[in-house]
Amino acid sequence: MKKYDAIVIGGGVTGLAVAYDLASRGLKPLLLERNDLVSGTSGKYHGLLHSGARYAVNDPEAAYECAVENKIIKEIAGHCVEDTGGYFVLLDEEEYYDEFKRGCKENQIPIKDVDVGEALREEPNLNPNVKAVVEVQDAVLYAYKFAVSLGLAAKMNGADIRIYNEVIGLLKEGRRIVGVKVFDKINNRMYDEEADVTVVTAGPWSEKIMNMANIQNVKMVLTAGTMAVVPHRLSKRVINKMRIPSDGDIVVPYGNNSIVGTTAYVIEDPDNYTIPPEDAEFLMEEGSAIFPAIKRIGFSRMYSSVRPLISVGEEIETRKISRRYEIYDHEELHNVEGLLTAIGGKFTTARAMAETISDVVCKKLGVKKRCKTKETKLPNPLEALSAEQLRKSGCPESLIRRIFEKKGTIDEELLMSALYMLVASFLW
Ligand SMILES: Cc1cc2nc3c(=O)[nH]c(=O)nc-3n(C[C@H](O)[C@H](O)[C@H](O)COP(=O)(O)OP(=O)(O)OC[C@H]3O[C@@H](n4cnc5c(N)ncnc54)[C@H](O)[C@@H]3O)c2cc1C
Repeated sequence: MKKYDAIVIGGGVTGLAVAYDLASRGLKPLLLERNDLVSGTSGKYHGLLHSGARYAVNDPEAAYECAVENKIIKEIAGHCVEDTGGYFVLLDEEEYYDEFKRGCKENQIPIKDVDVGEALREEPNLNPNVKAVVEVQDAVLYAYKFAVSLGLAAKMNGADIRIYNEVIGLLKEGRRIVGVKVFDKINNRMYDEEADVTVVTAGPWSEKIMNMANIQNVKMVLTAGTMAVVPHRLSKRVINKMRIPSDGDIVVPYGNNSIVGTTAYVIEDPDNYTIPPEDAEFLMEEGSAIFPAIKRIGFSRMYSSVRPLISVGEEIETRKISRRYEIYDHEELHNVEGLLTAIGGKFTTARAMAETISDVVCKKLGVKKRCKTKETKLPNPLEALSAEQLRKSGCPESLIRRIFEKKGTIDEELLMSALYMLVASFLW
């Protein structure tokens, strides 16, 4: 008998959500991540738990998916969410106003008109020339908190998670994938691991894994996006420009910072690209159209990450490619058994995507267990791990005292981020 029912390749938000979903249905998954958790796109995203409004006009299916998941994530992961709410502000493109409201209504996305004067009182840094404001249910979803909570939930349900373990090959028996070849970067050794099903959740690296199975004809469109950090929180809410989704549309208040984003440009290799120098100037122009003060404050840093999008036919105009997700069953598509790949989607919809993948895995394994992740609250790692457990895991006493004595002090916020890192390092 194999030790694992499923191997999940990639410890981004999708892989973590899959490992959790499978484990909570009683299966035994192993998650392998080549670096740290959420070291790919998930740890470098924009931070927005979408209400769906952004996609209401030109991507209704993605809009509806986001609207549904927005509610679920707020419910099951309240400790990872700052329920800020969001404004869509009309600056130009006045003709979009009616279309936007119609799209939201058709896709059941709750919206509310806000008087411009009231919006400016609520958000005094906003451009005073805004012409109309609509309130939506956007929120901020903290990446590392959510990832560690998913990982902890997976572990508590019996999943194994190995970080710094890179999949370097797939094991084949005839036309079936029966496991993976792994390089353990910490112990500098190679080993094989077997499972009935292998699930690829390697984001922009998924094509490389598919190539290991000799699947050459799935072409992903890789588009990188840049975000710029303003070292100041400019608003209570997420602020979006009310226009057809484009670059430089959104400012997300992430902790004490404001993140302006994004851009979109096609790249070839997710491990080897650079941020175009013109992105800083572009995001400064677009961001300061929302908050004029950005010109005065400036950016403290820029970062970027890569979307693996599903290309429909010849469509490579990146903003027009759907933000929906797709599950590839390679048995049906390429005559390769035991291999599934999840592509596309959003951080917001990772749980839903994991549910769909796990349904397929269960069907393949003949397991009849229902998904429970939409109604089960995720554990809060800071509550789940006590000083005693840290002590047992070998955490130095001086560090434990420092952690627990800092609670409720001026440094608590900083400390909490560090604590999440620490908790994670003791969990896997
Ligand atoms: C610029 C930008 C902004 C975004 N902003 C938002 C937003 O505000 N809201 C939202 O909902 N969505 C947003 N998204 C989308 C969202 O970030 C992604 O959909 C999501 O993070 C994808 O997660 P993932 O787990 O599928 O991929 P990733 O996070 O990329 O995870 C893949 C993992 O696989 C690992 N891996 C790769 N190869 C191997 C291997 N051989 N062995 C083991 N591990 C391997 C990688 O190290 C990586 O950790 C944004 C995307 C981009 C690009």
